[in-house]
Amino acid sequence: MENISIIGQTCCGCRACEQSCHKHAIAFKEDEEGFLQPHIDQDKCVNCGKCLKACPIHTVNVCHEEQKGYAAKTTSDADLKECSSGGLFYEMAKYVCGQNGVVCGCGVDDSLMPHHVIATTLEEARQLRGSKYVQSSMGNIYTQVKEYLDKGVIVLFTGGPCQVAGLKNYLTKGYDNLYCVDIICHGVPSRKLYATYLKWLSDKYGAISSVEFRSKKRHQWSLTLNVTSKNNGRIQEHLKIASLDPYYYNFLEGNTYRESCYACPYSQNNRPGDITIGDFWGIENTHPELFDIRGVSCALVNSDKGRQLWASVEPGLDATEVELSDIINYNGNLRLPTKRKPIRDVVYQALNENGFDAIPYELPLKSRVIDSLKNYIPNVWRYKIKTMLKRWRRTHS
Ligand SMILES: Cc1cc2nc3c(=O)[nH]c(=O)nc-3n(C[C@H](O)[C@H](O)[C@H](O)COP(=O)(O)OP(=O)(O)OC[C@H]3O[C@@H](n4cnc5c(N)ncnc54)[C@H](O)[C@@H]3O)c2cc1C
Repeated sequence: MENISIIGQTCCGCRACEQSCHKHAIAFKEDEEGFLQPHIDQDKCVNCGKCLKACPIHTVNVCHEEQKGYAAKTTSDADLKECSSGGLFYEMAKYVCGQNGVVCGCGVDDSLMPHHVIATTLEEARQLRGSKYVQSSMGNIYTQVKEYLDKGVIVLFTGGPCQVAGLKNYLTKGYDNLYCVDIICHGVPSRKLYATYLKWLSDKYGAISSVEFRSKKRHQWSLTLNVTSKNNGRIQEHLKIASLDPYYYNFLEGNTYRESCYACPYSQNNRPGDITIGDFWGIENTHPELFDIRGVSCALVNSDKGRQLWASVEPGLDATEVELSDIINYNGNLRLPTKRKPIRDVVYQALNENGFDAIPYELPLKSRVIDSLKNYIPNVWRYKIKTMLKRWRRTHS
């Protein structure tokens, strides 16, 4: 029997193998790029193969039931402001907390590094809102989730598809009290790169108290970074559209991901979660009547359990069923993994040799000028101008 060492570069770092090993023969250590990789103690390994069954890359775990697609957003204006897209995660958290359940997802610690944690109250679940564009540390979260499940507590588990599939494989059996929600994911940078970026931000702005990748402050539903600094009691917000920040730019370009992300077996429409959530990109083209500049999510309801959860949260949502193709055609990672570009070879090498400032940042001058202007013109204005121009063209053609 083989063990997890055969996984090599395809490891997604979820740590399901480590937690499923009863011999404690697997330990995760950071590689040169700062991604956690499994190491086997061959003296302890009995080649039972449990690690490979738990591994979501070796044992792909997706639902094959009838699937439905929705455009949806929370009916709470206040909650819509605080989430990345349409606030579906928090609506589900409200429902599960209302059933005395717990919510597992990605929060940040005091040093702003992301970790999967278990929220036992809605107040704690609020802290899990917001997309953190870096790999979340899983620690021994699957073991903790299992303890709640075995006690009969309802658990809502949210994370990237590999993390959800890792949990399902680790558990080895289905639980009626578990709801799994996977987020559409285009890849994750390393924690080392992110830690270096945080240091770079603090050298620039002073002590950093929060980093929001999906701030709705100036541009509403968009890819806008908001870094908050606090110096001598003075709080300052630094808002930038993604392309103007080297970390965010390289993230969106797909230049900094874990190697496994470029061959992700979950970049498809068959998903591991009972429900899949993401941004409803392209909705202004497919369903202009449902577009909301404050944010709209897409949801794929993938299983019977997903249908139950959806029915329970629907009263708190503005939701409309749509064709699956309307979602899939505009969300590349529901079709294929992100393409690996040659520049990926040099990013981490540059980081290791010369620090964060040395990572390539190849935004052409023209785009830099245009995007700097865009940064100060709120999306709402740009949207209004576009709509007026469209109308003007229609009446004058
Ligand atoms: C790395 C990453 C890549 C993404 N890529 C895409 C994409 O290509 N297309 C798309 O449509 N949507 C993508 N998303 C999802 C999108 O950004 C929103 O998270 C999603 O639409 C949910 O919105 P919401 O308003 O319900 O969530 P919010 O209320 O903002 O809640 C965020 C949810 O995401 C989880 N989460 C946050 N950060 C992480 C992380 N690092 N790892 C695991 N889970 C995390 C939280 O646990 C929570 O469940 C990505 C998210 C992440 C974190």
